[in-house]
Amino acid sequence: MTAKLQDSQRPALVGLSERQLRVELFGKLLDTTSDAIIVVEEVGSIVLVNLQAERLFGYSRDELIGQEVEVLIPERFRPAHVGRRRDFFAAPRSRPLGSGLELFGRKRDGTQFPAEISLSPLDTGEGMLVSASIRDITDRQQSEFLARARRFLLSASEEIPGAWAIFDVQDRLVFYNVAYRRTVCKSIQGEIGGRTFEELIEAMLASGDFDLGGVPPAEMKARIVAYHRNPSGAILARTAEGRILRIVDCRTSEGGSIGTLWDVTEDVRQEERVQRAREAAEASSAAKSTFLASLSHELRTPLNIVLGFAQLLQGDTRTPLSERHREWIDHILQAGERLLKVLDDVLDLSRIEMDQASFCLEPVDVAQVLAEVRIALAPLAARADVDLAVVPVPSGFPAVIADRARLRQILMNYGSNAIKYGRRQGSATLHATVKDGLARILVADDGIGIAEDQQEKIFQPFQRAGQERGPIEGTGIGLAITKRVAELMGGRVGFRSTEGEGSEFWIELPVG
Ligand code: ADP
Repeated sequence: MTAKLQDSQRPALVGLSERQLRVELFGKLLDTTSDAIIVVEEVGSIVLVNLQAERLFGYSRDELIGQEVEVLIPERFRPAHVGRRRDFFAAPRSRPLGSGLELFGRKRDGTQFPAEISLSPLDTGEGMLVSASIRDITDRQQSEFLARARRFLLSASEEIPGAWAIFDVQDRLVFYNVAYRRTVCKSIQGEIGGRTFEELIEAMLASGDFDLGGVPPAEMKARIVAYHRNPSGAILARTAEGRILRIVDCRTSEGGSIGTLWDVTEDVRQEERVQRAREAAEASSAAKSTFLASLSHELRTPLNIVLGFAQLLQGDTRTPLSERHREWIDHILQAGERLLKVLDDVLDLSRIEMDQASFCLEPVDVAQVLAEVRIALAPLAARADVDLAVVPVPSGFPAVIADRARLRQILMNYGSNAIKYGRRQGSATLHATVKDGLARILVADDGIGIAEDQQEKIFQPFQRAGQERGPIEGTGIGLAITKRVAELMGGRVGFRSTEGEGSEFWIELPVG
């Protein structure tokens, strides 16, 4: 027989009625479950919560009891939840909530969390209640997400047409894709994961899968390992089958490395084709320049003879020419001079394109060159009835660094164009300014201008910007020579033109 316990020794629960005991134990049991539990009555108010629910939602028990359950749901779901709650009480049965739906709880501080919820009806005899057990599945969702991302990453990396491999701090292969295995390790027997970079390179070089171009394997290994330790740029490797691989290594911040290998055979071949085409084009351009140069040279000699004899005829006092014949000789001489100018320009352009033109760069006084150009162009301007002017160059204007004769040639070309394409009683003005170490010498006219759609090619050889069918003579070589000469002197050219209003052409040169 057991001795009866003293009152003070009895556990607190002893002596409670069975109903009180059940209530007490139920409360304790509820607090030991791992899920949050919330019991709600049909009108939606909370009648019971356990410890986990308090912790999960951040409310105290007293704050929750009597509250509408919707307080624990994000605002956007609340209206729909009221309807669902009614549906549940209309046909109460145990079930997981919202299968296929993403469910969220809302904490006291407003933050939300993904939840898994299951519902059970509780018939108290006096009314129906629903007990919801709620689990925060943030961690589970995150690890599911990470597992999915890892699977996705691995399968996506196999889709990359290039090969890649990752080496750890000890330089051991830890990750690689199928392409890496197939491209560079295809003859290496056994598992390659875990082997060091040096071991793998040695095995690759010994496999005969690579064309080492006569370099001994040990030396090639040393070169590759040196690159791998301190990678900069890319290296190219050639396989025995003639494929070309572009290899780029980079070190990771943890001290490991990532290597990527791309088959660039097609790119390299294409580049070789382009290079060959470029060389052929350059050779043919050089041949064209040589041809033009020798043609112009060959034509100049007989032309000079024609002009020489025409001049003799013109000046022959022993058998003077009739007025008619004198006129004809004038035509011969004028046309011959024009032809000679064209030949000289072609010869000049050819020489420049063949890099045979020499320049003597020196400080050149701008005011002096402008004055010379003005004097040289004065007769042409007078014949065309164009007012040729030079804006006075301020004293102290710096000298430009140029070839004096070439600068004169450029300004003569701009100036004669301003007169040729100018209008009767119009003007052609030469003007020099300086800014930021660059002098700009500009020739402005108020002549016919250049149509916008013709402006793009204006500095290319033999482009006459629509004038080829017009009455004004020319060859389209002057501006091409101007641009090349200006660039060879370290300067640049530009222009602005409006059809029917006039043009401005300039050259910019460094000042000395
Ligand atoms: P050319 O005058 O012998 O035709 P250029 O190379 O000097 O050759 O000029 C190319 C073309 O640019 C000219 O044919 C003409 O259409 C246009 N052009 C050049 N300067 C002017 C100008 N000041 N005003 C209008 N058009 C011009």
